[in-house]
Amino acid sequence: MRNILIMGSGPAGLTAAVYAARANLSPLLIEGWQSGGQLTTTTEVENYPGFAKGIRGPELMKEMRGQAERFGTEFLIGDVTAVDFRKRPLSLIVDGERTIESKTVIIATGASAIQIGLPNEKRLTGHGVSTCATCDGFFFREKELVVVGGGDSAMEEANFLTKFASKVSIVHRRDKLRASKIMQDRAMKNEKISFIWNSVVVDILGGEVVSGVHLRNVVTEKTTEHPCAGVFVAIGHKPNTALFDSQLDMDERGYVRTHLGMATSVPGVFAAGDVQDSKYRQAVTAAGSGCMAAIDAEHYLEEIGHG
Ligand code: NAP
Repeated sequence: MRNILIMGSGPAGLTAAVYAARANLSPLLIEGWQSGGQLTTTTEVENYPGFAKGIRGPELMKEMRGQAERFGTEFLIGDVTAVDFRKRPLSLIVDGERTIESKTVIIATGASAIQIGLPNEKRLTGHGVSTCATCDGFFFREKELVVVGGGDSAMEEANFLTKFASKVSIVHRRDKLRASKIMQDRAMKNEKISFIWNSVVVDILGGEVVSGVHLRNVVTEKTTEHPCAGVFVAIGHKPNTALFDSQLDMDERGYVRTHLGMATSVPGVFAAGDVQDSKYRQAVTAAGSGCMAAIDAEHYLEEIGHG
């Protein structure tokens, strides 16, 4: 029986682990398939406080993991395949076979990239379609690429891809970007980046590998073919909450609802980071909420008089 079980190894989960370990609660942290969370698929992180010159995403996560480990966090690699929050103790099943019981659980399972939802997008994933420029950009030296989206992720992916690609076209469904000013300016100033406004990708073309996209201009309704060797989809994220369906209160988009700090609708279950935050979604806010969740869990354990 554990005191604190943490699901997720992004900034929220690892910060919760640092705080729980330092409170002598011997946390067990279950790392999912994408250990380190979304920051492991990003390049330079320039807005995490404490790094005046910036730090690479994977490096930041390695440091956070080392810090959690230093204070005695135990790590378990595996996928949580089921949870039961209806009875006490709370319990989780890892990889379909191992049951772990705990007095408290901190959910920090983050969010995953959203896809456009086209049949050929699925078929060509890994063959020219990607949601991770840092993972796959290298394969597109001197090639023409398309990035879909108008937010910070799309700008960051496009900028990164210009290290390899000869040209990057950002396809955005409106004529105004959602991205922050600094990210917009950077993309606009990059000579290899151009914008295709008011347009959506209606099909991805190619047999074995991507050869182009079909675009539809949402204002003129005109469709055009645009040749490219790769399509990077950066249209946002959805919370990883399928496991908690019908066990926790969630909003209409599937984000876990938290109240009184990081408490969920089930006593003893707390949530932190992108899984419960549809607004800020920053590494630093995730880390902050991880800290809050650990402190809330510690207070809850005191209240129930844990031994
Ligand atoms: P986001 O801000 O939600 O932007 C998603 C973009 O994709 C929007 O421009 C949206 O268009 C477009 N979009 C959504 N669904 C679409 C669809 N079905 N077809 C075509 N386009 C679609 O997501 P994000 O860029 O991933 O950023 C998420 C959060 O992480 C934000 O808070 C962001 O600030 C943060 N972030 C920060 C940095 C940084 O500071 N360096 C880097 C990456 C991410 P509309 O604009 O029309 O809605």
